[in-house]
Amino acid sequence: MPNSKYLIVGGGMTADAAIHGIRESDRGGSIALIGAETQPPYNRPPLSKGLWKGKPLESIWRKNDEPGVTLHLGRRAKLLEAPDKRVTDDQGHVHTFERLLLATGSTPRRLSFGAEQVIYFRTLGDYERLRALAETGRRFAVIGGGFIGSEVAAALAMNGKQVVLAFTIEFFIIAIGLTGWYFFSSSIQALLYPLALALVELARVPLAIAVRTQKSWNIQFAALIGVCAAVVVTSSTLYQIGELTFSPRRAAVYEKSAALDEAKREKQVYLDQKGQVQAGFEQIDKDWQTINSSYDAQVSKLNNQSAFSRNCTTTATPSTATDGTPRTTSRTSCARDPAFVALEKEVAATKAKRDEAFKARSEWQIALAKYDTTPFDRAVSRAEADYSKATQESPLHSYAAMLFGKDQRDITEGQAAR
Ligand SMILES: Cc1cc2nc3c(=O)[nH]c(=O)nc-3n(C[C@H](O)[C@H](O)[C@H](O)COP(=O)(O)OP(=O)(O)OC[C@H]3O[C@@H](n4cnc5c(N)ncnc54)[C@H](O)[C@@H]3O)c2cc1C
Repeated sequence: MPNSKYLIVGGGMTADAAIHGIRESDRGGSIALIGAETQPPYNRPPLSKGLWKGKPLESIWRKNDEPGVTLHLGRRAKLLEAPDKRVTDDQGHVHTFERLLLATGSTPRRLSFGAEQVIYFRTLGDYERLRALAETGRRFAVIGGGFIGSEVAAALAMNGKQVVLAFTIEFFIIAIGLTGWYFFSSSIQALLYPLALALVELARVPLAIAVRTQKSWNIQFAALIGVCAAVVVTSSTLYQIGELTFSPRRAAVYEKSAALDEAKREKQVYLDQKGQVQAGFEQIDKDWQTINSSYDAQVSKLNNQSAFSRNCTTTATPSTATDGTPRTTSRTSCARDPAFVALEKEVAATKAKRDEAFKARSEWQIALAKYDTTPFDRAVSRAEADYSKATQESPLHSYAAMLFGKDQRDITEGQAAR
């Protein structure tokens, strides 16, 4: 049972890079690799490029001279028992490990037709098979207009083969673009311009092949201009799709944001008005309390002061009693103290002022009590909820929130537009 410190499943470029990476930090730890292909790790890009232009096959091999590395090639890992740290391959060998790396890459999507007649171009074996076919075959169909499909189509064309390239993504882009234009303008005539652009778009891949394969510089240059035009078309179509998809939601966010600002502004205006009335009430309350204290002080002073002056005059009046006996009746009269009278007047005046201030205070108090911020609070809460919902429904705000590490509600117009 082979045991290794590091076990790598997969024999591609990632696996090879991992071997070098491990060796940089661990010079001695044993490394084992299980690879389904029979060749040691090699560079895939030349399979669709350099090898067709005359580069030697030897140039594709990756440097694998690290010590302590065992390659188990032509084997496919079938079973992983992670708790036991074991991998079983398709030949029944069990490999144990301390650390495991899965670098199994990707495989082309298989079609429901063609079976073994179709080459799913990915490996050196696929290259060798296609190369052998290119020796005898004349016409080739390449399915898929991405990088690899275009490169293989160009490579075959460079070798004098007739190539038909089938690709779908452009049709999707064009269909979505045209649908968008139609809904945007609601008229068939408006589709003439995007239709013309679509034709340019469709011509992109053949033009790109022509740039690589044509011998005449003039034709290459013309084809290059066509490719540039197609790139512009693709960008503008994607931009339109983006506009149609994102703009209404972004506009909804701005609308809700404006509504929220307006609700807050209205509440603030109301609060300012209330603040003025509150300030008025506090001032009048203060005045009233001052008058009240001074009134209390005056009343207490008045209560402690005698109303009459101490300089009294006594008058004796002779008179006769009922039995005829003469007698003297004396009467003492005291004048009201002028200081007391003045104070009494002062108290009365202060009382009048106090009553007046109290009345005014009551009026301000009633006016203040009429201010109710509840409707404004509700309006602001509603507007905040609408705004929050709109930002959550806007993809641009979601992306910008992720990008700037902020809450979606805090994304500014400028950040969402970027
Ligand atoms: C023709 C071609 C041209 C390319 N040109 C470019 C280019 O110009 N620029 C660029 O950046 N990229 C290019 N790429 C892509 C690039 O080659 C890949 O990104 C790269 O090869 C990925 O390496 P990988 O090791 O992660 O995966 P892969 O290359 O897919 O390797 C995975 C390996 O693991 C093996 N494996 C899978 N399952 C198991 C299993 N259970 N047991 C054992 N082994 C297993 C597979 O057989 C394969 O050998 C090209 C690819 C191709 C095919």
